[in-house]
Order: sequence, then C-alpha cells, then structure tokens
Amino acid sequence: MPPYTHTLTQRLFGQPSDLVQLNPGHGPQFGLVSRPGGHVTLVEQQVFTAGMNIARTGLDRAYGIITMRIAGTPAGAGIVPANFDHLLQYCFRPGAVVATIQATMATVRNNLQRIRLGLWSPQLQIIDSNPNRGGVASGYVRCSYSELFRMRDAAREQSFAGRIHIRFATYNAANTPANQRGAGMTMVHEGAHKFCGCRDWLYNGGGFGAYAGMIALGLAPAIPALTNAQGLNNADSYAEFVLNL
Ligand SMILES: [Zn+2]
Repeated sequence: MPPYTHTLTQRLFGQPSDLVQLNPGHGPQFGLVSRPGGHVTLVEQQVFTAGMNIARTGLDRAYGIITMRIAGTPAGAGIVPANFDHLLQYCFRPGAVVATIQATMATVRNNLQRIRLGLWSPQLQIIDSNPNRGGVASGYVRCSYSELFRMRDAAREQSFAGRIHIRFATYNAANTPANQRGAGMTMVHEGAHKFCGCRDWLYNGGGFGAYAGMIALGLAPAIPALTNAQGLNNADSYAEFVLNL
C-alpha cells in the first residue's frame, strides 16, 4: 500500500501514516490508519474488517430487536431473546418501573441508531492509538472542548471530538474469532463515545454471560453500582448490549 500523507501528522511527527481503505463486504469502506512511520499489517486488515462487520451487523440486529420489544413483542418471541430484559437490566439498570423501562429502551434505540450511522459512514477512520495517550487501553476518543470545563460543568464532560482510536496491538497477534469480536466490541464502545457523548462510568468486565448463567440458576447475582442515567451514558453498556444480543 502506498503511504498516506497526513499533513497535520507530518507537521507534528515528520513521518506519514499508512492509510488502508477496507471494505467489509456489506457496507461502505472505512479507513485504517497506522501510527506515523508505521504500516497497517495484513492481520490488522483482516481482524478489523471482520470486527467492523461484527459491529455493524450487531448494531442492525440490536436495533431491530429493541424496536420489536418496544412495540410489545415479548422476550423469547421472534428475534427477541429470552434473556432480553435481563440484558437490558444488566447494561442500563432501568429497574422495575414500566415507564422507566420504556424510556430506557427509547434512549438506547436512539443511541444505537447514532452509533450505527457513525460506523456506517464511509468517512470513518480508525487509528492505532498513541501509546503516550492511550497506554494499554483498548481505545479512546479525544475529549471535546467541554472537557476543559469539567470542573465547572461536569454534566457536559463528553468525548466526541477526535477520531476513533483503537490499540491495534491488542488484537493484531492473529486473525482469530476472539480478536475479531474484541475489535468489533471496541468499535461499538468507542462509537458510543464519539457519536453519543458517552463516558466511562463502568466497564462491564465480568460480562453478561456469567450474570445470565447465575440468573438461569435462580440466583440474584450482585452487579456493580450504576444508576439508570449513568448506564444510558456508559460506553461499555452499549458494547455489552450489542455484542450479547
Ligand atoms: Zn471508553
């Protein structure tokens, strides 16, 4: 691939980045960008192409499912999974009040559509993270100007100004289903930051699988504290929701 010359990057670092346009086969292209002076590897192209397919099709599926649930389709009927209500509770904590559950589903559906439109944009670029900024985090989106005023206006602290950064090294050792899924999940997570202004209130590190398993055994598993408002503004809640439907 020929090197992609990014004027600002060159000005800052003196070395161009490598940009590869990928087409996951079922949608518009998106760009994969290396660190300055680096290059995008074949495994990275494979993993992120598959990951984008997982993210995009997962978002489509989640949008369809929550639309049916809002319209009254019971959990366990049609394409609505039997554990849908548990997953909604795990990710967004609406509680037991019907009006709050309905409002939660409406907000989640709006945000799923935003993330979906963002990840389907042909202008989308995914950039290898800057180790000086991201460390070993799987990804980040730079904060907007409002981050500068967080002490005065914490409610406006949002992350949506920059491009989606993902740490390629987390997923590029081999083209495996686990790495593809991890890349796709991180795309949804970072998309929630970029396109919905979500924050990181809680990483759902335990995952829904263990929670659902205990529910199936009739147990009431403890989950970390998260309010409904925080859940609806939590990037990892959208990633967990989409990847578990
Ligand atoms: Zn995050």
